Amino acid sequence: MIHGGAYSPDSSLETGVKLFAQSVIMAVEQSSCQTPLLLENVPGGGRRMGGSLEDLARLQDALKPSLPDIGVCLDTAHAYAAGYDCSTAEGSLSFLARAHRLLGFDAVKAFHLNDTRALIGSHREHHEHWGRGRLGREGLKALLDREEFSSIPGILEMPAGGREDDRASLEFVRKLSA
Ligand SMILES: [Zn+2]
Repeated sequence: MIHGGAYSPDSSLETGVKLFAQSVIMAVEQSSCQTPLLLENVPGGGRRMGGSLEDLARLQDALKPSLPDIGVCLDTAHAYAAGYDCSTAEGSLSFLARAHRLLGFDAVKAFHLNDTRALIGSHREHHEHWGRGRLGREGLKALLDREEFSSIPGILEMPAGGREDDRASLEFVRKLSA
């Protein structure tokens, strides 16, 4: 799983994307690791790359010639922080439709299913347990109901705390996907 990182203050998005791709490709070439690579969307903002789906598509495009199998992981908390309203069914579905269009129908290989305390468009990272954040039920259910994602893994990245909290979050997601 890789994040886009950020380009330097005296650089540009274009150069940043180029350097990112060179670095990832070099790392892959120098390793014997066969694990599939996934590019993850981030909260974005400022010089950070991969917050908008357009940005993520640029990073993906830069990697594709050398890494044709590069996949994508979509993080719901990061999407919300980047400005996509995944708290409603409509917002969630339009985010997914946009991801399909810009990244490719088969590109999404995993989800990070996280609630968040950060405001929409705040570019802040503040993961929260399900049921306690701003995303809640409706947007998550719309995503889980999509047939094309039924066999795609969803991973919860909850704030550190007790196991009971983790269990409750997992239960929240499982109930909605039943
Ligand atoms: Zn994540």
